Amino acid sequence: MFHELKQSKDFLALTLAHPQYLSESFDFDLGEHTHVEVWDTGVIVFSPKHVKHSKDIVLSCAVHGNETAPIELCNALITQILSEELKLAQRVMFLIGNPAAIHNGTRFIDENLNRLFNGAHSRDEGLCNPERVRAHKLEQYVDRFYASQSGERHRIHYDLHTAIRGSKHEKFAIYPYRPGRKYSREQIMFLESCGVNTILFHHEPTTTFSYFSSENYRADAFTIELGKVFPIGQNYMTRFIAMKEMLTLLMTGKDLQLPEFDLKRLNLYQVCRSVNKHFDDFEFNFTNDVENFTAFPKGYTLAKEGGKAVKIEHEFESIVFPNAKVPVGQRTVLMLKTADDSNLD
Ligand code: ZN
Repeated sequence: MFHELKQSKDFLALTLAHPQYLSESFDFDLGEHTHVEVWDTGVIVFSPKHVKHSKDIVLSCAVHGNETAPIELCNALITQILSEELKLAQRVMFLIGNPAAIHNGTRFIDENLNRLFNGAHSRDEGLCNPERVRAHKLEQYVDRFYASQSGERHRIHYDLHTAIRGSKHEKFAIYPYRPGRKYSREQIMFLESCGVNTILFHHEPTTTFSYFSSENYRADAFTIELGKVFPIGQNYMTRFIAMKEMLTLLMTGKDLQLPEFDLKRLNLYQVCRSVNKHFDDFEFNFTNDVENFTAFPKGYTLAKEGGKAVKIEHEFESIVFPNAKVPVGQRTVLMLKTADDSNLD
C-alpha cells in the first residue's frame, strides 16, 4: 500500500480501493522535512519535521459521500504535499469521512454521518451500522491528532461540504454553538478570504463533526458549504481557487494577509430555531427548488404536519437545509435571523 501511494500520490484512489478499512497502517518520510502517517482508510496525517509548528489543522471532506467537490479539493492538496510541491509548516490531518458512501455514490449507506458525532454513534441502538462505526473511529482519530501535542496550540477543523440545493449565498459556513466563547473575527475574515462570506451562528449543541471538535477540543471549527453538488470530475475547481490558496497559505505557514474585519463584506445569520419533524405527513409550503436563505414574513405558513401549521415567528426568517424526508424526530429545516457583530471577539 505504501508503494501504491508513493507511486500514484493519489490518496483518494488508495482510499476508494479500500473503502472499508486498510489491512495495516503505515508511515514514511517525505525527504527530510515531513513525516506521513496513514492511520486508516481516508485518514492521513502530515507532520513537519525540524520546524516549530503551532497549529493542528483538520481538513475533512466526504462526511457526505456524494459531496464530491471538497474531496477533489482535499485530494489535490494531498497530492501536492506528497509530490513535495508544498512543504508544510503546520501539522495537518486530512479525513475522507465516508469512503464506503463515495464508493456507492450516495450521501450515506445507512444513516447521516453528520448526525452521529459527539457520542451520538453509541446512543440508542449503538454501533449498529457503517456510519456509526465510522463516526466513532473519526472521533478517536481527531482525539489522537489533537491530544498528541502539548503546550499552547491553535486547533482548527474545517469540515467541507457541498449543499444539495441552490443557495442565495453560494458558499457559507456554520459556526457551531460555543457557550462562553466569543466568535472569532479573524476566523470569519479567513473564511471571507476563502470566498465564504456568509456565516451562520448556531444556537444549540448538535451532533455534527464540527461541533464535536469545537466543543471537546476548543478548536476553531466550521461546517463549510462550498456550493452545489456535481458528479466527481465535473466540479469546476476555479470556483474553489481562493479556498485552495488560503488553505495552502495556512498549512505552509505563510502570511495570510487577512483584511480588516468588515461587516459590509459579510452576511451574518443567527440560527433562531430548528424545526423538527413530529409526524410522517410533514410537508413544506414551498416548492422543492426554493433556494437556501430565502426569507419568509411573520405569520407565513412554512409547513404543515399532523393537521397543524408551522408558522414564521419573527419579522423575517430565512430557511437553510430544508428536507422534509428525514425520519420523525429529526430536523427538517434551520430557521435564521440576520445577526450583527455583538457576539464576536
Ligand atoms: Zn454535507
